[in-house]
Amino acid sequence: MSSGPDAPSGARIAERARTVVPGGVNSGQRSIPGLTDLVVTGTGGARFRTADGREFTDFHAAFGPPLLGHNDPEVARAAAEAGARIGHMGVGVTEGEVQLAEQLVELIPSVEKVLLTSTGSEATFHALRVSRAATGRRLVVKFQGCYHGWHDSVSLNVISAPEKVGSHDPISTGILPEVLDATLVLPFNDSEAVRRAFAEHGHDIAAVIVEPVPHNVGALLPHQEFLTTLREETTRAGSVLVFDEVITGFRHDLGGWQSICGVTPDLTTLGKAIANGAPVGAIGGRADLMDLFSTRPGAPAFFAGTYNGHPSVVAAALATLRKLREEPVHAHVYRLGNRVRAELTALYARLGVPAVVTGHGSVFVSYFMPGPETPRTYDDLLANDASLFVGYRRKLLDHGLFELPLNLKRSHISYAHTDADVDRLLEGTEAAVKAVLAE
Ligand code: PMP
Repeated sequence: MSSGPDAPSGARIAERARTVVPGGVNSGQRSIPGLTDLVVTGTGGARFRTADGREFTDFHAAFGPPLLGHNDPEVARAAAEAGARIGHMGVGVTEGEVQLAEQLVELIPSVEKVLLTSTGSEATFHALRVSRAATGRRLVVKFQGCYHGWHDSVSLNVISAPEKVGSHDPISTGILPEVLDATLVLPFNDSEAVRRAFAEHGHDIAAVIVEPVPHNVGALLPHQEFLTTLREETTRAGSVLVFDEVITGFRHDLGGWQSICGVTPDLTTLGKAIANGAPVGAIGGRADLMDLFSTRPGAPAFFAGTYNGHPSVVAAALATLRKLREEPVHAHVYRLGNRVRAELTALYARLGVPAVVTGHGSVFVSYFMPGPETPRTYDDLLANDASLFVGYRRKLLDHGLFELPLNLKRSHISYAHTDADVDRLLEGTEAAVKAVLAE
C-alpha cells in the first residue's frame, strides 16, 4: 500500500517501517491481519491508542505480560526510578536482584535458586542446556502445540497443519537436522505416548519440557494424571522435568501452575507477567541443577547476558509482585474470566453456533467446534473453524475491541478490565459472529 501526504499518519509510519524493518514489524505475528498499518502510540490500563487516533479495548494484552493492565503507574514509576538511580552496571549484584530471587524462591514450589534472563526464550534455552549438562544425554521431549521460544531445539510443532502432526514440523528453516532429530515430539495429554517414549529412549532423554497448560494454542487443559505421569517417568529415568511457566506463572497463581496441580518440576521457566511488560525471563529450580550454571566458578553450563537483572526490569518485577500480593488481582481476573467464559458459552448457544469456550482464570478462548467436551489434545483443535475464529476477531476491530485475529490465539483479562469492558466484549462478539455468519 502506498501512502501520499494525505494518508493517515499510521500508514505513513508503517510504510517507513516496511522500508527499513523486514515486514515492518520486530517480531513474528505482530503484523495484524485486518488492521494494516497498526502503529501504537499509547497504552494505559485496558486500552491502547493508534497513530490514526483509534482506541481499542485490549483483550490480547501483548501476548500476556500486563496482568495488571498496560503501563501500570506504580510499575512504571518503580522502573523509571531505578533507571534514573542506577541505569545498569552489569557487574556484581544489586539488592533488587536479591529481593526478587528471594521472592521467587519463596513463592514457587520448585524454585530453590533462580537466575534472571531478559526473555522467556533464553530461560528455556538454558533449561535445556543445563539438563544436557547435568545428564550427559542428548534428547529433549516437547509436545505438539507447545511453544517455548525461538531457539532451535524447540522451534517445531507449535501450530501444525493436520498433515504435519506426528512428524517433525520446524517453524523455521536453518535448523540443523541433527538438532531437530534430538527433539522428540509427543502428543499433549497422552500419558501412554510418554510411557512408550521413555520405554524406548529413557536412557537418552535429558529433559521433558512442557507448558503445563498449552496456552500457545489457546488453552488445552491438562489431565492431572498426565502431569503426574511426566513426573513419574522423568524421575524413574533420571531426566529433568521442565515446566515452562512463561505464561502460567504469576498469571494463574503466584506459585505458578505447579502450585495449582501439585506436581513439582525440577526446573521452571518464567517470563511475561513477572514484570508486567518489562523484558524479563527467569529460570529456577533444584539447587544442584542451578549450581551447574557458570555463575559459580568452574561450573560447566555457561550462562550470561549483558542485561540480565537490569535494575529497571527488576524494579518493575518487584512492584508487580507487591501489587499481586497486596491487591485482589487474581480474584478480580478470575471473576471476570469466569464471567466471560460463561456468558460467551450462553451467547453461542443462543446463536446456535457450535463452540467451546475454555481457558483458565484470566485466559479465555472460543473454539468454533462441536462441544461440549473441552479440547484436551492438539488433534481435538483441528476441528476448530479457523475462518470463523479469525473472522469474528477481525470484525471486533470495527467495535474497538482487540483479540488477536490469528488462529488459536488466546485472549487475556487484566486487573484493569472492568465489567463494563466485558459487557462491551460480549455485545461486540455477538455482532461480530453474526456478521461473519451472514457473509
Ligand atoms: N515459553 C512460552 C510458554 C511462551 O509463551 C513464550 C512466548 N510466547 C516463550 C517461552 C518465549 O518467551 P519470549 O518471547 O520472551 O522469548
